[in-house]
Amino acid sequence: MRLLISAIFLSSLIAPSTYAQAPSAQSANTASVLSCASDPSWTAPQKPFQIYGNTWYVGPRGITVLLVKARTGDVLIDGGVPTDAALIEANLRELGIDLHDIKWILNSHAHCDHAGSITQLARATGAQVIANAADTALLARGGHGDPQYGDRFTFPPVHVTRTVNDGETIRVGDLILTAHSTPGHTRGNTTWTWTSCEGERCLHMVDIGSVSAPGYKLIDNPKYPDIVKDFEYSFAMVAALPCDIPLAPHPGVVNFWERVARREQGDADALVDSAGCRAVAKEARESFEAQLAKERTAADPAKQQPASARRGNDVP
Ligand SMILES: [Zn+2]
Repeated sequence: MRLLISAIFLSSLIAPSTYAQAPSAQSANTASVLSCASDPSWTAPQKPFQIYGNTWYVGPRGITVLLVKARTGDVLIDGGVPTDAALIEANLRELGIDLHDIKWILNSHAHCDHAGSITQLARATGAQVIANAADTALLARGGHGDPQYGDRFTFPPVHVTRTVNDGETIRVGDLILTAHSTPGHTRGNTTWTWTSCEGERCLHMVDIGSVSAPGYKLIDNPKYPDIVKDFEYSFAMVAALPCDIPLAPHPGVVNFWERVARREQGDADALVDSAGCRAVAKEARESFEAQLAKERTAADPAKQQPASARRGNDVP
């Protein structure tokens, strides 16, 4: 059972249509023997590079970690798995960043592959940690008691120094980041948005919070009774956001590496996709609805029996 859950968890964080291109795809078959901390595709080294304006990619190949620079201090979004801290710190140094210039570490959600190294990074940088109020307790428990995974995927507990709720902003000098609650994947799952400029051209950056429900129990889940309503809210939220460069905690969700490759081949705007957030929301919603329908069918004994058997049962 544990092996199955591990496989589901590891494969989940990639949208179905991009799964084959995602770094994790190669290891999906072997995922059953891996834990959050040891999936090699998630921790594959990646050189840091500029995404657009003040936004830089500083994570490993398989998990998005972003640096957003400001005049008075810098911001990190997410921290990868627990063993990713060293690579992220090395990438920051390679960009000439003094680790103590990192003032805030923002979290997208309280899972081991995005919050795993935040405590180490906070220690190394002295940064404050910001997360959605609804994920604070799960972060403090290091992932123990997750509504879907229980104690299977834990990480060093994260002490959140500032909580945000839907629509709240973080200001670092002239940089403003907005937290949009996109609950479901976790209760405090958050989509972060900000603006990055190159010269006069300013673009809406969106780090779309995970909107997948990998192996989740969606109906009659006493640990998260409102999960269906929350996911539906989140799909609408993501679809409605002003969105020029869609990003996601797992790069494959937005075909990130494919876009980066196109850009390297000369398509300067390959990362720009103003319909990208709507596309992610649409695909996630369709996948979610199919999963929900399947779970409802499985939960309804009447639908699993042939009509003749049902008639027999109905006769007193
Ligand atoms: Zn997750």
